[in-house]
Amino acid sequence: MSKPFPQQVPLFIDGQWIDSTTSEWIPLTDPATQNILSQVPCATDEEMTRAIDSAAKTFETWKDVPVPVRARIMLKYQSLLKEHHDEIATILAKETGKTFEDAKGDVWRGIEVVEHACNVASLQMGETVENVASSIDCYSYTQPLGVCVGITPFNFPAMIPLWMFPLAIACGNTFILKPSEQDPLTPTRLVELFEEAGAPKGVLQMVHGGKEQVDILLNHPETRAISFVGSTAVGHHIYRTGTDNLKRVQCMMGAKNHMVVMPDANKQQVINNLIGAGFGAAGQRCMAISVAVMVGESKEWVNELKEAASAIRPGAWDDPEAAYGPQINPAACDRVLSFIEQGKKEGANCILDGSNCVVEGFPNGNWVGPTIFTDVTTDMEIYRNEIFGPVLLIVTVDTLDEAMALINDNPNGNGTSIFTASGYAARKYQHGIQVGQIGINVPVPVPLPFFSFTGWRASFAGDQHAYGKQAVKFYTETKTITARWFEDDHQSDMNMTITLK
Ligand code: NAD
Repeated sequence: MSKPFPQQVPLFIDGQWIDSTTSEWIPLTDPATQNILSQVPCATDEEMTRAIDSAAKTFETWKDVPVPVRARIMLKYQSLLKEHHDEIATILAKETGKTFEDAKGDVWRGIEVVEHACNVASLQMGETVENVASSIDCYSYTQPLGVCVGITPFNFPAMIPLWMFPLAIACGNTFILKPSEQDPLTPTRLVELFEEAGAPKGVLQMVHGGKEQVDILLNHPETRAISFVGSTAVGHHIYRTGTDNLKRVQCMMGAKNHMVVMPDANKQQVINNLIGAGFGAAGQRCMAISVAVMVGESKEWVNELKEAASAIRPGAWDDPEAAYGPQINPAACDRVLSFIEQGKKEGANCILDGSNCVVEGFPNGNWVGPTIFTDVTTDMEIYRNEIFGPVLLIVTVDTLDEAMALINDNPNGNGTSIFTASGYAARKYQHGIQVGQIGINVPVPVPLPFFSFTGWRASFAGDQHAYGKQAVKFYTETKTITARWFEDDHQSDMNMTITLK
């Protein structure tokens, strides 16, 4: 299976795996034990510049590599990722604490994007109109931008880097990945396999660090497009700095996702799905359901929901009985615990309290047990903030209209779902709700890559979405050509020039 973890996470610059010469290191810890797994470098200015220069130089040749050749590298990459699927998932589970099943899902959703990138020739096709004037044809095609950058969060260390670099590179760009410093070993394996798939030296670089390294990428004149996925505050900084430098920027940010439960829904289905979507992955999903909006009589199901939630518990990644893993680090765990305290102080009713969670054999893990609050109002801090932990808030309303007004009033718009047996209610919801990704009797509606990941409002900044179909538009420019094919055709001036006779 997987090799032992390196003592230091290497950088990947100009086709070489190198040890950083930095004096600043961030310890990478196992979130279930606090054992140090490796050390993550904050790349030096010189290393950052070397990565950008190499990506810029490589772009000059990579952009002209024929499309089928690029597509074949993606085909080979897809097959290597599949071959190493469980090995990558094991690395991922060890460094994030996710359960093995969850880790496999993270890897698989990334592989699906690589499959999409294999089809780059069709995705990049331009358009043609013949005879826009006599003997003049007009056509467009798409060309890559240059050096593209990806800055990714800790919570999907396989899927989210794979949202970005395969499509950007398949389109003819070169790419610099700055993954989360909290789980860089999974992306390291992804990059090794990309190299093995035959990607030429310099096409993909990987650097590590935090704000200082990101700021170099945002301010360098050679970087053309920035894709960011992470928290809202950081996304605002990245969007403002990147666009101030006139770069193309897309930021997928924080969330507060609501599930509307109609009284005509299937009760058991609602309970099962709220458990999975509210507590799965320790609530560390940008598409997790963090608020259940119980409409009318459905509020009577809360006790059964509590019972079902009481029966699950967190645990280590390889514990088959664990429903989910630890919070990613002690600070994230403290943050969740302080929100639980805050909820109690501000008058919400904590009917299930996961604050003093103990997992046998793992006394130092970042554990939070499943937690449920009822009597939540929209002015409470626990409602207004993204908690990013296994904490489910219950809000009760009398009608679907009230539920929709409440959700549309929340600043975030990443995902939402409705559980109902009524086609009328579902249609009304899908049409009127101001959220980008909607599940109808589906709790976590993450689209496949032939669609796009379409967060709205405060959950997204930019004009093309990072992943899937629209990502190709983000990573390319359209060039439109108007061509006169016969020198002696004096008729075709298109009313824009005076034709001399
Ligand atoms: P984060 O914002 O702390 O970190 C994301 C990336 O930004 C990391 O690579 C990090 O090193 C870098 N970074 C951190 N601080 C920075 C700064 N001051 N300047 C520049 N770069 C900086 O996010 P996280 O904690 O890793 O991830 C969780 C967040 O990501 C949650 O808010 C979650 O909702 C969000 N998320 C959103 C989506 C989406 O598609 N909308 C998907 C996954 C996660």
